[in-house]
Amino acid sequence: MPELPEVEVTRQSLLPVVHHAVIKQLIVRQAQLRWLIPSKQLSKVLKNAEILSISRRGKYLLFEVANGFFLIHLGMSGHLKFLSSPSPLDKHDHVEFIFDTDARLRYYDPRRFGAVLWLGQHPFEHPLLAHLGCEPLSSAFNAKYLFEKCRKSKLAIKTFLMDQKIVVGIGNIYASESLFLAGIHPLKPAHQLSEQECKLLVHAAKKILKKAIAQGGTTLKDFAHTDGKPGYFSHSLQVYGKAEVPCAKCNQPIIQLRINQRSSYFCEYCQQ
Ligand SMILES: [Zn+2]
Repeated sequence: MPELPEVEVTRQSLLPVVHHAVIKQLIVRQAQLRWLIPSKQLSKVLKNAEILSISRRGKYLLFEVANGFFLIHLGMSGHLKFLSSPSPLDKHDHVEFIFDTDARLRYYDPRRFGAVLWLGQHPFEHPLLAHLGCEPLSSAFNAKYLFEKCRKSKLAIKTFLMDQKIVVGIGNIYASESLFLAGIHPLKPAHQLSEQECKLLVHAAKKILKKAIAQGGTTLKDFAHTDGKPGYFSHSLQVYGKAEVPCAKCNQPIIQLRINQRSSYFCEYCQQ
C-alpha cells in the first residue's frame, strides 16, 4: 500500500512535469473507485484548466486549478503514470488526464480502493480532510504535542500512532519502524509514555519518513517518464515483515504479533 513517503515521492516526481500543464480532456473509463468519480462535474471544471500546484495532505494529493482543487488518493494499489505521448492502455488505467501537449497522466488501480474527487475552493473543509491530525514532518508534530495527546489515551502506542486524527500518514510499516528506532514496546499504553519517550518517537518517525522519501527520490528519479511500478523501500526496513530475522541491534529474533488486527513486528529486547 502506498504510504506517506510514496505519496510524497509521487508528488515531487509529478510536479516538474505537470506544473502549468493544461488539461485538454478528462477520460474516466471506470468511475467506480472507493467512491464514484463525479465524471461529468470533473470533465466540466477541468476542461482547459491549468495545473497550478500539487500539494499533499496526509496521503491525499491535492491538485490546484483556477476553479479549485481536485483530490487523488492512491488507495491500496493506485499509481500515477505520466506519459509524454500516447501508449497502449492497461486494463486498470481507470482515469486519464490528457494535456494540450498530448502528454497524459494515467491513474492505474487494480484494486480500486483509491479516489478521484472534486473538492472545490475550500479543500480543507471537505469531510475527508477536515479532521486530519498534524503532518508528521511539520513542526506541529513535536514531543510536547504527542505527550499531551498520549496522556489522554490508553490505546497501545502503535495503534495510537496510526490514528489519522492524531498524526497523518504513519501507517503500519512506519509505526513499527518508528517504535523500533525509538526503543519503545508497541503494546505500551500511550498514557504511560514519558515526555522523553515522546521526543524519541517523534524524532524516529521524522527520521524514517525523511529517509524513505530521500530513497524514493533516488530510486524513482525517472519515475515521471516510465510506467514502471514504484519500489516501496522494503530494502531499508529494520523490523517490518522480518519475523524471526535477527534484530539489527541485538541479534535476537524479531517477534511478530497482531495488534488491533494489524501485523506488528518488534524486538522484545530492544523495545521494553
Ligand atoms: Zn533487538
